[in-house]
Amino acid sequence: MKSLNIILMGPPGAGKGTQAKKLIAKFDIPHISTGDMFREAMKEGTPLGKLAQKYINDGHLVPDDVTIGLVKERLSKDDCAKGFLLDGFPRTIPQADALEEISKEIGRKISHVINIDTPVEELVRRICGRRVCKVCGAPFHIINIPPKKEGICDICGGELVQRPDDNEEALLVRLDHYNKQTAPLLEYYQNKGLLTTFDGSSSADLTPKLIAFLEGK
Ligand code: AMP
Repeated sequence: MKSLNIILMGPPGAGKGTQAKKLIAKFDIPHISTGDMFREAMKEGTPLGKLAQKYINDGHLVPDDVTIGLVKERLSKDDCAKGFLLDGFPRTIPQADALEEISKEIGRKISHVINIDTPVEELVRRICGRRVCKVCGAPFHIINIPPKKEGICDICGGELVQRPDDNEEALLVRLDHYNKQTAPLLEYYQNKGLLTTFDGSSSADLTPKLIAFLEGK
């Protein structure tokens, strides 16, 4: 099978992270989530984390040069030779142009761009009810995926918290960035013949469809 060099796109709350975890397990490829990389750097208090924090908590995008540098370094690592799944990158046209250059340079061209389309009301409901484990990062939802014991992770017993940017105010800023800066990428990849859009209203139904699509069925 040809390498799967995938970009997963969709607005905040579309379920990119959830689908990404299932796809990387199925196809045994690395998950490159710029959001996760920034959150990790913030947790560790590195210079990158301190810089990213200024933007992320209010819902703004981290500057392109910082984000592009991070992805370039990650994509050049050996484990990406067998394929990779980009989640949350690119989010702007300059990032997509830079990715094109990087992938040419390292000989790892994008094979699929998957767009998960989800109605705005559903995004607000999902994001505002989302909780994540502070220790292992497992995702929950106060209504859709409630933990057995309120506020406690079923998997590791860690405390469940709300991401600082998972509130309605920051979400509106994130959606505005999505509509103005990220949505134009759909046309960008459509024109390259790489884009396929899926309905993200039901996460459970979506996974088998994505797997079948990537297997070429
Ligand atoms: P995510 O986990 O993908 O929702 O990302 C969380 C936050 O990290 C975003 O709201 C942005 O502030 C920042 N971020 C993640 N990926 C990017 C990117 N490609 N470009 C700029 N900022 C990003």
